[in-house]
Amino acid sequence: MIIQLDTSIDGDKKGRIEAALQSLHIDFYPVQTQIGHYFICTPKQEFDIRGIGHLDGIKDVHRVSGAHKMVSHKWKVDRTIIDCGDGVRFGDGEMTIMAGPCSIESEEQIEKTVEVLKRNHIKVMRGGVYKPRTSPYSFRGLGMEGLLLFYKHCHRSGIKIITEVMESAQIEKMLPYVDIFQVGARNTQNFNLLEALGKIDKPVLLKRGISGKIDELLYSAEYVFKSGNEKLILCERGIRTFENSYRNTLDLNAVPILKEKSHLPVVVDPSHGIGIRKHVPQMALASAAVGADGLLIEVHETPEKAVTDGQQTLNFMEFERLVSRLYALENVL
Ligand code: PEP
Ligand code: MN
Repeated sequence: MIIQLDTSIDGDKKGRIEAALQSLHIDFYPVQTQIGHYFICTPKQEFDIRGIGHLDGIKDVHRVSGAHKMVSHKWKVDRTIIDCGDGVRFGDGEMTIMAGPCSIESEEQIEKTVEVLKRNHIKVMRGGVYKPRTSPYSFRGLGMEGLLLFYKHCHRSGIKIITEVMESAQIEKMLPYVDIFQVGARNTQNFNLLEALGKIDKPVLLKRGISGKIDELLYSAEYVFKSGNEKLILCERGIRTFENSYRNTLDLNAVPILKEKSHLPVVVDPSHGIGIRKHVPQMALASAAVGADGLLIEVHETPEKAVTDGQQTLNFMEFERLVSRLYALENVL
């Protein structure tokens, strides 16, 4: 159960609601986000909500069974729209494309990518500066130096930045330069990181874990939400299965299921999802067809020379062709 409080509720009224819940022996957790105040209740048995529903300061009481409550569709009739400013929105019915290299490599690379994005009316650039790598000897990103270059060129061109944050200690220094914080598949269940991202007022894109179940992704989203941040985007990026003909198994079933279970926008990363460059466009189109609110696509001027993930990265021409097909498909849909 979610008790939604008036946004202007005072301490006295809050105290009376708490006392009423305690007298009814209902376990509850106060949650305060950028948008609202709530009590999340986990009663051990059914109880009559009329026992508290009349109290002053309560805006609404929602019956939400199951354990991920705040991210559940059951209490929010309308889908959540994440507004990043300057016309960049997720979940408003239009597809939002985010594209760029797997890793930020150089200033020249950023400039060239920005040009391609601008030409194609794409307003969000991706690029990792902190890279989670299987081997500690592989390239691990340019760090803050890369982020400052990334910011310099995107900011001046009105392009938003999405980049991965790997640990809580990085958040504060990255904060002024990042528009959307990406939590990578290896960190989906890093609960300390999720709680730290709950304390900031910037959108968070949460990737599905490498072997993550849909419910586990929703629990992870619940951590961020419960810690205070409602600006969440869920991302399907493929899961590890027994199949080894491709890098991951892009689970497009997840899109309608997540949208049914949750009010949050759902995007797809077809690049990591299939991991094979020549098949990325079909999977991107399929993602759009299945109702994704956005796409995260790896693009590089010369994928053959990319320092990371070149095998699944589109070159500029391939990318531009895909974008025009996506726009055409969107019109048909
Ligand atoms: C990435 O986006 O480059 C990345 C590392 O993604 P994932 O966490 O999905 O592997
Ligand atoms: Mn990558």
